[in-house]
Amino acid sequence: MGIAITLRGVSRAYGPAKALDDVSLEFAAGGASALMGHSGAGKSTLLQLIGGMDVPDAGEISVDGQPLPRRGLDAHRRRVGFVFQRFHLLPALSALDNVLAPVLPYRVDFDRKARARELLDAVGLAKKERALPSEMSGGQQQRVAIARALITRPPLLLGDEPTGNLDSATGQEIVELLMGLREQYGMTMLIATHNPELAATCDRLVRMADGRVIADDVVTPTPDMLDRIGRLG
Ligand code: ADP
Repeated sequence: MGIAITLRGVSRAYGPAKALDDVSLEFAAGGASALMGHSGAGKSTLLQLIGGMDVPDAGEISVDGQPLPRRGLDAHRRRVGFVFQRFHLLPALSALDNVLAPVLPYRVDFDRKARARELLDAVGLAKKERALPSEMSGGQQQRVAIARALITRPPLLLGDEPTGNLDSATGQEIVELLMGLREQYGMTMLIATHNPELAATCDRLVRMADGRVIADDVVTPTPDMLDRIGRLG
């Protein structure tokens, strides 16, 4: 379940500044990894490259052993769900239509509306499908954004500070939701975060500074953590 991602010697510069400098990492299929590091460390750049929204200047990114092409990344992007710090919902659309928006332009082999409703239910918003973003709390808006990210059933979910705009209790709810969805849908997750609770629920913690990986550790969850994210019962 999920897809494996390998980076070999990946670099990306914006002008003279190296946003990523010779980064090599492997992310196992189905794993959950937290990316931490100060602002400007290169976390967003790394996520954008892995998500196929940008291409490296040097090095290679592979998905399940297949190198990503430099052009024609659309097929890869459809395998990726993205959740942002700012929810980026379309303000004039209902929750249901926001979830549907990514697949509206495409022919798809599933019932869009049924899936959108299933996802709104999975994020705890079955009763809010007609609500506009302005009628929802930040946590609810992020739930809609998470449902939207999952509409193509992506095997890879990328998050760029998904709790960064939420108070800590709401952030904790989002952390638990993400981890539950990962179990339910079997995704690889890669999340840039400053949130230690979120990092602690991941199984891997990659620390970055100045475009480089400075530490890469396995996280051992405590029983209390497992209990809270519902894996024990
Ligand atoms: P993080 O997500 O860890 O805060 P980023 O990947 O956003 O780090 O940024 C890494 C470095 O690259 C920073 O020095 C940032 O200013 C620079 N950078 C990122 N995106 C751009 C861009 N589009 N144009 C110019 N510089 C950029």
